[in-house]
Amino acid sequence: MMDFGFSLAPSSAINLDTVDLSRYRKLLELEPDARICMGCGSCSATCTAAPFSGMSVRKVILGLQRGQDREVDRMLSACMLCGKCTMVCPRGINTRHLILSLCRICADGTHKEREDGR
Ligand code: SF4
Ligand code: SF4
Repeated sequence: MMDFGFSLAPSSAINLDTVDLSRYRKLLELEPDARICMGCGSCSATCTAAPFSGMSVRKVILGLQRGQDREVDRMLSACMLCGKCTMVCPRGINTRHLILSLCRICADGTHKEREDGR
């Protein structure tokens, strides 16, 4: 095989059929407004924690839909609950409350119980 001095990057494709969506489903029960996020990024642009943590409500919602729980946990731990993101959301989503609800879901583990049918 010819050596070109570089190789293809490993695939970053996500198999959505195998992703655990239990956290996302639980969030939609508590915060139905998560459905209307249009991914504009206004929350990310104004986030107090973003410069040093990459925190972004947009990315948190996307991460939940992709089953990237570790990355979501990392971002949640950086949120200071200042509420700036809520003030700029063009869809009127109470993003601060959404984050609080998500923290509760992650803390009590009910999303796992639901998924198991218990
Ligand atoms: S500002 Fe609102 S609509 Fe825009 S990405 Fe953030 S949560 Fe979604
Ligand atoms: S509440 Fe959290 S996500 Fe929203 S702007 Fe403040 S630190 Fe960022």
